[in-house]
Amino acid sequence: MKPAKRYQNIGISLIRQINALATTQSVNLGIGEPNLEPDDTLREMAMRVAASGSWHYTANAGNLSLRKKIVAGTGLDPKDEICVTAGTQQALYAIFQAYVDEGDEVLVPDPGFVAYPTLTTICGGTPVPYALEPPDWKLDAGAVLKKITKRTKLIVVNSPSNPLGSVIDRDALQAIAQAGPLIVSDEIYSQIWYQAPPPSMLGMGRNVIVLNGLSKSHGMTGLRLGWILADQAVLKPILTAHSYIATCASAFSQQLAEMILDAPEWNEAWLASVRAQFREQREAALYSVEHELEAKIPPPAGAFYVFAPVPAADTLSFAKTLATDEGVLVIPGVAFGNAGEGFVRISFAAATGTIGTGIERMGRYLRAASR
Ligand code: PMP
Repeated sequence: MKPAKRYQNIGISLIRQINALATTQSVNLGIGEPNLEPDDTLREMAMRVAASGSWHYTANAGNLSLRKKIVAGTGLDPKDEICVTAGTQQALYAIFQAYVDEGDEVLVPDPGFVAYPTLTTICGGTPVPYALEPPDWKLDAGAVLKKITKRTKLIVVNSPSNPLGSVIDRDALQAIAQAGPLIVSDEIYSQIWYQAPPPSMLGMGRNVIVLNGLSKSHGMTGLRLGWILADQAVLKPILTAHSYIATCASAFSQQLAEMILDAPEWNEAWLASVRAQFREQREAALYSVEHELEAKIPPPAGAFYVFAPVPAADTLSFAKTLATDEGVLVIPGVAFGNAGEGFVRISFAAATGTIGTGIERMGRYLRAASR
């Protein structure tokens, strides 16, 4: 009954541990998915797929007609430079399976998305964190490059970042692309931005693997639709791994994705309204963080998180007691790496009233604790 060694030290993530404390009464600012519901058009597209779409397996890499639409305008070959996946999480699993061996090192952001070091460990590799520094969490390409050794197999970058909301500038991305090892650029939040679209690593080199999908942009987290863009030779082993993990992404979700991409005007309007909604929620979060937590932090440039400093020595027990005593869920910064200690991730993927109530209760709790 003993599990495989590679899973013996892998527990459930701290994010899930905190979310397990949620009740129906909780004010939930721990959520890692958009508070978006499909509009009538999106529902109608899904109904059309249900009424007349194919339920059969697709090609491992996804329907060619969808692949063509995703890569349109990029110069990539839809035949062998894209693989459609069951979300970017499965894409990451396939990439790590295909490339990370025992003894390999993977450079991961700290604070950063927990899957990167965990997948490294599952594959027998060693996660090597590179630090992002407060208050603006700017990525220092020079500092990342200094961490490269003979064993470095992958460098993971995530812009806009979960949990930081920060965006990496083009020069830094270019410097990293030129470093040599394979780069995994997780761009799942690319459509959620506030001033200008974040730069993509697409086209920055044959060693660059770009991930994206519809989870965050279209509130389709449960429909599991993502994709990997990479040079044909780089993609080949990933496609093999993907075919054994998932066979193919859901045919239903693929056909829905195709309808979305076939409706560019609706899609532009949808994305504009998504950004407008998140902009409003971001303002609510920043206002409350400033007034209730007395922290003035640089506004996140993308995604829907603020990473806010809290005067608690141990943010994990702070987040747990906040959840049980005050019914407010936020994610302790340490869930994203050691550099996250002293911070909490507040998700503003919630109604503005919920954001205000949650942060106000958190402020009151902190003030009471400091007395
Ligand atoms: N990457 C990042 C940075 C994320 O925050 C998430 C979702 N929380 C994912 C990947 C996975 O997204 P999905 O599998 O739904 O595409």
